[in-house]
Amino acid sequence: MTTPRYRGRFAPSPTGPLHFGSLVAALASYLEARQHQGQWFIRLEDLDPLREPPEATGQILRSLDSHGLLPDEPVRFQSRRHPAYQAAIEHLIANGDAYRCVCSRKELKLHGGRHPNHCRDGRITPGDRPFAIRFALKDEQSHWQDQLLGRQVQTVTAEVDDPVILRKEGFYAYQLAVVVDDIDQGITDVVRGSDLLDMTAQQQQIYRALGAEPPGWLHIPVILNEQGQKLSKQTHAPPLNDDQPEENLIQALIALGQEPPETLAGGGVESILDWGVRHWRRAAIHLTSR
Ligand code: GLU
Repeated sequence: MTTPRYRGRFAPSPTGPLHFGSLVAALASYLEARQHQGQWFIRLEDLDPLREPPEATGQILRSLDSHGLLPDEPVRFQSRRHPAYQAAIEHLIANGDAYRCVCSRKELKLHGGRHPNHCRDGRITPGDRPFAIRFALKDEQSHWQDQLLGRQVQTVTAEVDDPVILRKEGFYAYQLAVVVDDIDQGITDVVRGSDLLDMTAQQQQIYRALGAEPPGWLHIPVILNEQGQKLSKQTHAPPLNDDQPEENLIQALIALGQEPPETLAGGGVESILDWGVRHWRRAAIHLTSR
């Protein structure tokens, strides 16, 4: 059997423009893919119109473009993939891997995460109550290997941790859509921020329930601001300045522990990316923030 060619991706949620932390994640996934002579894709995870300013998608794509981060296939939009998520949900329900849940967050909290309405038994008739659909996890101590962080052990508790895959408001949830699309796009390796590390064991169960093997995982440390908070929209991370892409890329390489020479500035973004691919050493990434 031949090993499939490396296929990586950057999958931002368009809740605002890219900031430096997202550039670091995009660059790490790009360099990993290119160093493996692989392909690299961009996927907009635009599942929640209530949290997505309409201009964010255009801003993100323009930013990636001005930093020379060009995908090998047209950009994918999750907002255009609803039938695929619906089909996955029906498949999971038919196999007993997903169920309707009418519990409110408050009810779940009061019962330590157990469902007072016994939703997992599949006996509830939601009636007029709005319901979500949850994935039915199996109790597991999951052992897996992160390509940067090494051996990981995560405990998954059935019922208590069951993730929502279709929200009560009718939106498909990240935990489902990310797996459906990574399978559909043949992603072999996921490089992303370690803020998503805790999701991994759950996602591996969803992969298997959908009949696929999980990809390789590499979680990079998240970039923190001076107050030690993760750079994000919530912590008011400033948008990337697209007028200085070379400087941003060099700073991102440095944040990833790489050592670009001073002579690199001024030659254009392509030459910086080219240097990055030739010199990329994942082992140089500092494991400080997580
Ligand atoms: N869309 C997710 C985010 O922006 C990332 C998904 C992933 O890389 O698994 O946080």
